[in-house]
Amino acid sequence: MKRIFKGLLAALLVCCSIPVLAQQAQPIPTDPNVRIGKLENGLTYYIRHNNLPEGQADFYIAQKVGSILEEESQRGLAHFLEHMCFNGTKHFPNNRLREYLENIGVKFGANLNAYTAMDETVYNINNVPIHKVPAAIDSCLWILRDWSDGLTLGEEEIDKERGVIHEEWRTRMGATMRIYEKVFPLTFPGSQYANRLPIGTMEVVDNFPYKALRDYYEKWYRPDQQGIIIVGDFDVDQMEAKVKSIFSDIEMPANAADRIYYPVHDNKEPIVTIATDKEQQRVIIQYMTKHNAIPNEAKNDVNYLVMNFAKSMMSQMFSDRFDELVEQSANPPFMGATVFDDDYLIAKTKDAFTGYAVCKEDGIETALTTLVREMERARRHGFTEGELPVPKPITCVPWKMHTTNVARRKTRSMPKSTCAISLTTSPSPASKPNIP
Ligand SMILES: [Zn+2]
Repeated sequence: MKRIFKGLLAALLVCCSIPVLAQQAQPIPTDPNVRIGKLENGLTYYIRHNNLPEGQADFYIAQKVGSILEEESQRGLAHFLEHMCFNGTKHFPNNRLREYLENIGVKFGANLNAYTAMDETVYNINNVPIHKVPAAIDSCLWILRDWSDGLTLGEEEIDKERGVIHEEWRTRMGATMRIYEKVFPLTFPGSQYANRLPIGTMEVVDNFPYKALRDYYEKWYRPDQQGIIIVGDFDVDQMEAKVKSIFSDIEMPANAADRIYYPVHDNKEPIVTIATDKEQQRVIIQYMTKHNAIPNEAKNDVNYLVMNFAKSMMSQMFSDRFDELVEQSANPPFMGATVFDDDYLIAKTKDAFTGYAVCKEDGIETALTTLVREMERARRHGFTEGELPVPKPITCVPWKMHTTNVARRKTRSMPKSTCAISLTTSPSPASKPNIP
């Protein structure tokens, strides 16, 4: 057992992009209750019946585009556009969209919301009372359709929103974001990721010409980058028919631009970045070793689940060791630490094996030395059988999370995993695969 874990850890460290058990690859069956289809224009839909809570439904549109695709003169406009989705559309001019939804009990902020990230932008309308207000099904589908290609983008509304976003930048731009702004140009040298935080620059937000926003919208909000996700207490056949009739005539733009997934370059010499902020109280150390991200095509088989399971156990065993170190020492090397393997900071195209520690300002050297030593110790010697987190695997097993009491899973919990499939093709397993 010890050797197995040492082997797994070595594999994680060296070649995360290559499935460990390549010869045993077995595709994971998708949840048969999700109706998946692709329209001729490239738009994909995911529809699933679920009656918890009864009489309600959730509607999502996931766009595989975000701030990474902005030109220099558009920095901040992916996020600006997200705001404009609530400020006038073809079928819901001015404030009508919010007014209509609030009227039927869908509250802005709580049940109606959106977020913009570097590589994706996702909108949600939750807990729509479709039994009490049957017409809400069509209305919500038309809202998604308007978001897809029917935004008004009126000049007056755009100008009003500049102030709103400026205020968001002023009030919500915390220490973490300011540190990211300083650090990313150094940790992503020569990459598009260096300068594309969704909040953008206030110079652009305050001054951009209307055309810059419309250009981004026309170029990137298009059916081949969009997924519609609907989960709730309805008839799936009827919902699919509605989706087909409402979304099929959206046209792809002529000569559509390539949706590039920007690479993160490897570096021969270590990159060291240090940033400070007056509101950042604690010292955080991150020690990262980059490796290729697992390609989307490789995420739909058993190896991917096994890899993730091994990663979560590895993290747990590291955390247990660190907790012990902290508890048993009168003068601990750090306040807390962990090790994980995930995205390289915010990149979609690069992963990193990461050690993370929180320490005091006068303890940076000790904390970093201990963190690196522990990572190296595990790489050389692995973990012992006794360290295996015995009670935890059951809850960690990914297909268990997906299938346990599927009948009792709430509608709200489903679109998250379905969104993940829509955005990355991560698995949404239906039943326990046979792992040899
Ligand atoms: Zn915002």
